[in-house]
This record gives sequence, structure tokens and C-alpha cells, in this order.
Amino acid sequence: MIQPKNKVVIFLGPPGAGKGTQAERLAREQGLTKISTGDILRDHIARGTELGRMVQPMLDAGQLVPDAILIALIRDRLAGMEPVRVIFDGFPRTTAQAEALDMLLEELGAPVSAVPLLDVPDETLIERIVDRGRQAAARGEAARSDDTEEVARKRQQVYREQTQPLIDHYGARGHLRPVDGVGSMDEVYRRIMATMP
Ligand code: AMP
Repeated sequence: MIQPKNKVVIFLGPPGAGKGTQAERLAREQGLTKISTGDILRDHIARGTELGRMVQPMLDAGQLVPDAILIALIRDRLAGMEPVRVIFDGFPRTTAQAEALDMLLEELGAPVSAVPLLDVPDETLIERIVDRGRQAAARGEAARSDDTEEVARKRQQVYREQTQPLIDHYGARGHLRPVDGVGSMDEVYRRIMATMP
């Protein structure tokens, strides 16, 4: 049964495109729960859980964590959610994850509402990521261990190879909403809002 209050937004776009920041604001303003798989995994690493110890080398290398782990994490997060009001940031990242999510959402009766795709040129992405690392260091905070130029380039490559096919997956279903991701945070946010159902 389709629940009218359900809302499922999936943010697509390469690392450094601003998905996290924009998803955070959209979640706050629309009463949605942001599910960021990168944040969940970093939290496990920070707490030194078994999962955290297992995935740390993968995050440090800019490689993807196996699909089965991510799918189980998401299944847990969505279990019992009623209504389903979520923004996914960083998930799905492979076709297998997208197909598993389609099935989970079907079980929950909560179809995808929109998939904004943040479009930003490659060189701008690397600059933003390296800058994010430097700014964290300047504030005396620990920078993300994968916010270095070398790992950022690896993450872009992984995105192109494994995540870009999702553009076709959601495009074919009529969910894709391409958005120009270059501009101020407010400008980009307004563009995203203009595509929301
Ligand atoms: P993010 O914060 O989204 O840039 O994710 C940081 C890192 O966490 C990625 O480079 C991957 O190693 C891992 N990760 C996050 N989400 C996923 C996912 N959906 N599938 C596989 N690995 C992921």
C-alpha cells in the first residue's frame, strides 16, 4: 500500500559535489531523516566496533565497502520506519545496492520521490575535497583520512566506474533531477528545491 506521507530522496553525485551539506539542509527543512552511509561507517570506525575495524582500510583507500554490508545497514535503518521520510546521502553507490533498495522500498510501500544529481566538474571536485581537508586541519579538527588529493582521485574513479551507472538506473525510471552544483550553497539549494515534487 502506498503511504501518501512517505518521501524518499536519493542524492546522487560525485564525492565533493556537496551532497552531504545540501542533504542536511533539505532533511532539516522537510522533516526527513538523513541517512549518510559514509557518516555511519565513520562512526563505527570512531567507536572501534568490529565493523569499523573491518571497513577502515577500505575507506582509507577510497574503495567501496561490500554491498552486503551496506544493504544490511540500510535494511536496519528502514525497519519499522513509519512513515518512511528519508534522504539518502552516499547510498546507493552500485547497481546491486540500487536494486536492493528498490526491493526494500517496495516492501515498505514507499516509492522513490526524486533523485537530484549534483553536477560539478572534476577539477572543482578535487579542489573542494582537498580544501575541506585543509579547513578541518586549520580548525584543529581531524580531517577525514580520505580527503587527500590521492584518495580523492581514487574516489572519483570509483564513482565513475561503479556509481555513474545509477544515473541510467534512475533516469530510466523517470526519477533523475540533474542540478548544476556550481554556485553558492543557497543557489544550489534553490535549484534542488525547484526539482522536488
Ligand atoms: P562518503 O562519506 O559518502 O564520501 O563515503 C566515504 C567512504 O565510505 C567511501 O569512499 C566508501 O569507502 C564508504 N562508503 C560510503 N557509502 C558507501 C556505499 N553506499 N557503498 C560502499 N561504500 C560506501
